Amino acid sequence: MKQVYLDNASTTPLRPEVITEMTAVLTENFGNPSSSHAFGRNSKNLIELSRKTIAKSLNCNAQEIIFTSCGTEANNFILLSAIRDLKVERIITSKIEHHAVLHTVEVFERQFGVQIDYVNILQDGTVDYNHFADLLSEDKKTLVSLMHVNNEIGTILDLVKVSKLCKDHQAYFHTDTVQSIGKTPIDLTELPIDFLVASAHKFHGPKGIGFAFIRKGIVLQPVLLGGEQEKGLRAGTESVHNIVGMAKALELSMEKHEEEMKEVTDLKEYLVNQLRSTFPEVTFAGNPEQTFYNVTNAILPFDESKISLFLFQLDMNGIAVSRGSACQSGSVKPSHVLEAFLPEDLLKRPNIRISLSHYNTKDDIDYLIEILKKV
Ligand code: PLP
Repeated sequence: MKQVYLDNASTTPLRPEVITEMTAVLTENFGNPSSSHAFGRNSKNLIELSRKTIAKSLNCNAQEIIFTSCGTEANNFILLSAIRDLKVERIITSKIEHHAVLHTVEVFERQFGVQIDYVNILQDGTVDYNHFADLLSEDKKTLVSLMHVNNEIGTILDLVKVSKLCKDHQAYFHTDTVQSIGKTPIDLTELPIDFLVASAHKFHGPKGIGFAFIRKGIVLQPVLLGGEQEKGLRAGTESVHNIVGMAKALELSMEKHEEEMKEVTDLKEYLVNQLRSTFPEVTFAGNPEQTFYNVTNAILPFDESKISLFLFQLDMNGIAVSRGSACQSGSVKPSHVLEAFLPEDLLKRPNIRISLSHYNTKDDIDYLIEILKKV
């Protein structure tokens, strides 16, 4: 059966060069990086080279990169440490964050009594910067946690504006860049961001590995205890092959960025045009002309009774898309992201998130449209 993968915001296929590099490490470098013999030193060396590669692509210091098992862990680590170690009293975030941030702050609100303020989301799914500036004017020790690119609708946070506002108000700034790292350049020397997080499987690297950037001078304490790895900030034997694979994936993604971004941008334009010409009443969550170049969230002019049926039909025809983030895409309820800003009538209509990569082609989109027409 024909198979078309259009769910790259959930996860991405590995680049062949990444598999080659990881296979070599798995075969030849099994030493524990904490061992002092040559086997261990070789593994340690690979980790430090990978850290440098990652730091170079973000224009930061290698010592500012801490490896974690995934983006979720990195988000949890920063949020918990900000409350516990930096004595943050209030977190400003939004209702459209990934659950790795949203559910975490909800728990910390109950557990530590930290104040959580949610910035308003406008009708196009973007942050209301006026409301944000108002919130910041309250004089409290604050961490701002706002994602760069939204994983369901592709709206983009203005990192320049938000990081400057945070600096002006002496608030710490954490941004979940899981959907943007490897897909757009971020210069940490230019931007006064305090913390960011990434996950390799979103940029054609392996699953089970990510990293946190922690700005030099900010002192956090570990969440995982019991080892001195990662300067004592994250105990546990390092996953050397995954770290090497992540660095290779990021390096390649940034090397090929211009060319691949152009390809994917053209594909998205084609997709949006095809959807509009086939279904004149289609509408979008987030303005597709302004959202990130690989994500489109289309609200289709189908009856609400068709929600589960049409996803099933796409799946039966070998097409992988989702409704929201992977963990909730099987549900017929609208996602928490859409609920945060869409009016009731649009929430009732079926939506799909189509997320592209440079491995997709126009044929994939034609096939999607052909199957959608049969629903
Ligand atoms: N943050 C965002 C915006 C995401 O899209 C995801 C993954 O879907 C995560 C965090 C979680 O990353 P991980 O799968 O590495 O835990």
